[in-house]
Amino acid sequence: MSQNVFDVAKERFFRYTEKLQLNQRYPGASMPEHLTEPDRSIETRISLKRDDGSVLVCRGYRVQFNDDRGPYKGGIRFHPAVSLNEVKALAFWMYMKTALLDIPFGGAKGGVAVDYPSLSLAEKERLTKRYATILVDVIGSERDIPAPDVNTSSQEMAWIMDAWRMIHGRYQRGIVTGKPVTMGGSVGRDTATGRGVVFCIEEAADVIGLDLTHSAAAVQGFGNVGSASARFLAELGVRVVAVSDVHGAVRNLQGLDVPELLRHTRAGGAVSEFPEGEACDRESIFAEDVDILVPAALENAITAENADSIKARLIAEGANGPTTIEGAHILRSKGKTVLPDILCNAGGVTVSYFEWVQNRQEFYWDEAKVDEELKRLMVRSCRQVFAEAQRHDCCLREAAYRIAISRVAEAAVGRGVQ
Ligand code: NAD
Repeated sequence: MSQNVFDVAKERFFRYTEKLQLNQRYPGASMPEHLTEPDRSIETRISLKRDDGSVLVCRGYRVQFNDDRGPYKGGIRFHPAVSLNEVKALAFWMYMKTALLDIPFGGAKGGVAVDYPSLSLAEKERLTKRYATILVDVIGSERDIPAPDVNTSSQEMAWIMDAWRMIHGRYQRGIVTGKPVTMGGSVGRDTATGRGVVFCIEEAADVIGLDLTHSAAAVQGFGNVGSASARFLAELGVRVVAVSDVHGAVRNLQGLDVPELLRHTRAGGAVSEFPEGEACDRESIFAEDVDILVPAALENAITAENADSIKARLIAEGANGPTTIEGAHILRSKGKTVLPDILCNAGGVTVSYFEWVQNRQEFYWDEAKVDEELKRLMVRSCRQVFAEAQRHDCCLREAAYRIAISRVAEAAVGRGVQ
């Protein structure tokens, strides 16, 4: 039987933190266990009244993994494959990500196992508010702050904020991030993850000597993260020659017109139906003859089966957990540079932090300030990770884990591990 995604995440943790010698550094603190067991896992039934009067019963989850450095923070995913183990793995990576970026949050994640796109708008609102109502006492701007993830957006965040307001009778803007700008959201949050991915790619390109204006890229997944990554890469002069979504892929060796492709997908088209390119199989994205590959869909995309076919020199993990342990091993043996997820896709949570700061102050920034601050924090973290990798002669993922885990462990002993 194959290992579940949380067991794989823990295996990676133990491998990468072995040299940190947590037990010797913090005797008696059981630090490895402290850092690999979630603080709280909530699993719940969610019954949704359908428009036709029937009832759909789904499983919902919220995992609050670690709050040693600040309130729990993490997105909400609505997807049929959501499971407790997947949510635990995502929450686990979340606290490492906030520590790596050195922003004052812990890590959490939530989700509902449901074919969300098939629901009507009214059903989506009922489901989201039901889920929020169940969690109403465990979320809050100083407790646990949800944000968008796969299949959720500013609309779902607005519904969650409203559900909380209906019960408590008052506003709490910082209860969620990634909400609409008109309700206290931050400008630039919707594209922040993709922008952060591209800031990391620019830093890495400098280190490995890749001239971006003469480079080509392929992007797997054309949702929030994938489409924004493609857009900002194209703006830098990178030829985006192929992108995929759940239905298929599209290729144009001259470079796709990304803004036009975005208009096409926003109007409901699949990327493979884009007229200015050649439709191809969605798995072909990995073998494209490109310099940069951005996996920006779901977990376990790069595996032992396809890693060998990857030609890109630079792999920028826009998604969470897109590379399996075997896939990563093959990429390493072929000398590829992999920008690890907890660094590469941290732009979203970073601007979520800016949103939370703005909500606390009720003083709002313009987009130039958001981008400038995002760039500052992403570049700082990239440089720390590259320096740590050089210092310890290790891969970037191990370097990122070393930095993140050291920070959380220090905070845990500082406040007294119990
Ligand atoms: P999304 O729902 O907006 O988009 C997901 C995209 O992936 C869609 O285009 C979908 O068609 C495509 N997809 C799904 N399965 C696919 C497959 N097998 N092959 C090709 N494409 C496939 O989701 P998102 O918010 O862009 O999240 C994508 C990834 O990025 C997830 O791993 C998520 O956890 C991670 N992430 C998101 C954010 C954020 O701010 N939204 C932040 C950090 C990390």
